[in-house]
Amino acid sequence: MKKIIFATNNVHKLKEVRQIFQDKYQVLSLKDIGFDEDIPETGKTIQENASIKSWFIFNRFGLNCFSDDTGLEIDALEGRPGVYSARYAGEEGNPEKNIIKVLAELQGVENRTARFKTVVSLILDGIEYKFEGSVEGRIITEKKGLRGFGYDPVFIPSGYDLTFAEMPEELKNLISHRAMAVQKLSSFFKHRKE
Ligand code: IMP
Repeated sequence: MKKIIFATNNVHKLKEVRQIFQDKYQVLSLKDIGFDEDIPETGKTIQENASIKSWFIFNRFGLNCFSDDTGLEIDALEGRPGVYSARYAGEEGNPEKNIIKVLAELQGVENRTARFKTVVSLILDGIEYKFEGSVEGRIITEKKGLRGFGYDPVFIPSGYDLTFAEMPEELKNLISHRAMAVQKLSSFFKHRKE
């Protein structure tokens, strides 16, 4: 099976992406190639952060790889937490605290529409390709469900009445922002002349 490096050590993302690629590609993590540092995410947009991560690994190891960066955009908060989603409530990047902060800011707010956006940056032989995915939904008033990660317990995608944290993983991986972007990546590989 062909191998591709996913520039992440986030076990949740890795599991999701491996499920999406299934038996098409063997997806290696940074840990699998012996790298377990955090890559600084200094970009001002999720596009920039995705690029920073994939170029960092390509330049360091000379290996083809892809990375993803995701943000949750809440309309009533003018798009926040957006690119700051991981560390919204502080540098330690605590998902519980991030959710508490978002729910506090939305207290009493009627318009709760939001979306997750993912950008995947792929570097193949020194050329970058980008793939985007997003999913519309809304933020509920209290956490529901134990699956998934990050903001999943407070996000209900449009057309469903379960949060991402209540859904079976297979369903999240069919409809999520990351699934949309990774499907585009997968179809790019399928149609590419080797
Ligand atoms: P990053 O792509 O690792 O920078 O993700 C930014 C933040 O968004 C992290 O705090 C994650 O917890 C959150 N996040 C990323 N993907 C998801 C998801 O699929 N569901 C819920 N939260 C997510």
